[in-house]
Amino acid sequence: MIWDARFWTEEERLWNLLLETDPLLAEKIDRRQDTGCWVWRAGMVRSRRNKLYGKLRRPLGVPNSESKIWLAHRYVRVLLIEEFPGEFEIHHWCQRHSCCMPLHCMPLSPEEHLELEAELRAEDYFFSPPPRIPVYAGDGDDELPF
Ligand SMILES: [Zn+2]
Repeated sequence: MIWDARFWTEEERLWNLLLETDPLLAEKIDRRQDTGCWVWRAGMVRSRRNKLYGKLRRPLGVPNSESKIWLAHRYVRVLLIEEFPGEFEIHHWCQRHSCCMPLHCMPLSPEEHLELEAELRAEDYFFSPPPRIPVYAGDGDDELPF
């Protein structure tokens, strides 16, 4: 768990990249200076597990049949970091499902995600108040998760 200047350096880099690649999308995000969350402020969708996620249509400027509705946090992750092969879920370290900050969103297989959530539940993680946010997931504390 790292909560230091490296997060903010990387957050700034990703934000500038977002402004460059999709400024209209950046306008829909509330960039929080306290937690580092990028909170989605536009259309939302409720999941089967009753969680609210941001949604958006991309690409723009083409007929609807040629674009698709994305979950906002997934789209931002793919836009700024990388496309993930196969099926994956996103774990929100910040416990805020409307957050699109890629460093708060860790991709996991469905099995890994279930396992992690069970572990966190056992530790009462979900009842601890933010910002208890492990920013860089991975084996080494000095490594970025991508
Ligand atoms: Zn967040």
